[in-house]
Amino acid sequence: MKRIKIKELLVSGELGSEILVKGWVRTKRGNKNIVFIALNDGSTILNIQVVAETSLFDENLLRDITTGACIAVTGKLVESQGQGQNIEISATSIELYGKSDAETYPLQKKGHSMEFLRENAHLRFRTNTFGAVFRIRHSMAFAIHKYFNDKGFFYLHTPIITASDAEGAGEMFHVTTFDINGAPRGEDGSVDFKSDFFGRQTNLTVSGQLEGELGAMALGDIYTFGPTFRAENSNTPRHLAEFWMIEPEMAFYDLTDNMDLAEDFVKYLIRYALENCKNDLEFLNNMIDKNLLDRLRFVVENDFVRIPYTQAVEILTASDKKWEYPVGWGRDLQAEHERFLVEEHFKRPVILTDYPREIKAFYMKQNDDGKTVRAMDVLFPGIGEIIGGSQREESLEKLLSRMREMKIPEHDLWWYLDTRRFGTAPHSGFGLGFERLILFVTGMSNIRDVIPFPRTPKNAEF
Ligand code: ATP
Ligand code: MN
Repeated sequence: MKRIKIKELLVSGELGSEILVKGWVRTKRGNKNIVFIALNDGSTILNIQVVAETSLFDENLLRDITTGACIAVTGKLVESQGQGQNIEISATSIELYGKSDAETYPLQKKGHSMEFLRENAHLRFRTNTFGAVFRIRHSMAFAIHKYFNDKGFFYLHTPIITASDAEGAGEMFHVTTFDINGAPRGEDGSVDFKSDFFGRQTNLTVSGQLEGELGAMALGDIYTFGPTFRAENSNTPRHLAEFWMIEPEMAFYDLTDNMDLAEDFVKYLIRYALENCKNDLEFLNNMIDKNLLDRLRFVVENDFVRIPYTQAVEILTASDKKWEYPVGWGRDLQAEHERFLVEEHFKRPVILTDYPREIKAFYMKQNDDGKTVRAMDVLFPGIGEIIGGSQREESLEKLLSRMREMKIPEHDLWWYLDTRRFGTAPHSGFGLGFERLILFVTGMSNIRDVIPFPRTPKNAEF
């Protein structure tokens, strides 16, 4: 007999039919005559109840069916007599694939802390919460590809190992085959990368944007969706050392087009989740965050506020809040400032534009005021920055003069500058942090709980 997944069974299972299901035991209860098993196979957050009459089964087998054990059940699909489910399986045979010792199984009991589950990241998929989070994560990845494909964007695979530092931030993991105890050195004592694998210094990418721009200057609209790496020592609930980023890059888009796309894109994803992840979202709404569904609907239904950075600084200065970090024109905004604007002042997502050039990357288009650049950050409740983007500087002269001011070596980026030499065009793009999106959509509060195996300072166990 062919196995049926529980998700499918709950939708289209026919009463009275013989079926085979396979999954992991969530709970077992009962008495000496009858045993009730809640079985979950991961296809949905919903369990199927298996009913076994003890007289039909070996006593040892039933004893070994404990929380966490894996079993295959053949039986008849029947109407349920009990509360909480419409259908159940009346078992005729049970095969035990794998026992799960009740004394040592870490998830034997319910109600573990998030910290405990993080330390048991190899097993946390088996909890309702993490099952829901990772099914939603999958749905969001799928929806991202669907959104862009439907709009005629091309998925471009930008390199993971690069020689460039896109942000100029310098917080990179180096890639080398040198023995760390004995890298060859040149006459001045510095490491000589000529004999290293790539013949030069390389690192893990912090962003696919620069390569993405090369694609956009020929294919028109592209997006990347891949892992990025930042060796920043930020132990916050919103930073990972390895995270996934979606970076669309569009020829002929100005900053307004860019904002329109970002807003439409995020709303599409949230709407997709509301329509396609109902059971999981309802569970998270009940168990993790009672305002989750309201918040998701609110974001889909309301326009984002769009204001320049300068106006945001005025609002922050005028408020009588006590800030941990000072506010002032020219200073970067911290999460506390971003969240004040979104959660207390405007009470909806905010897009800030036209930041001071000193706090933004070299490639952003310079405004005529000589002070600001066409940057846009999208700020979300509970998160702060979820998207960072800009219109790009398309003028070779302006780009070069900014690079010289910032001491960014031209010879390393000759290939990037060629896009401005040959057929340059106005263009724009942004980066959405995938895990920050998942934080928002699931209502989880720590970014370590929305990626299967988080990489953070001093943590890479699994
Ligand atoms: P932040 O100020 O929050 O550190 P950033 O200015 O460094 O963000 P960008 O370089 O603009 O961010 O990256 C684009 C997006 O990638 C951000 O809007 C955010 O959603 C996400 N992001 C950035 N750094 C991280 C990180 N360490 N972990 C997870 N997501 C991140
Ligand atoms: Mn950062």
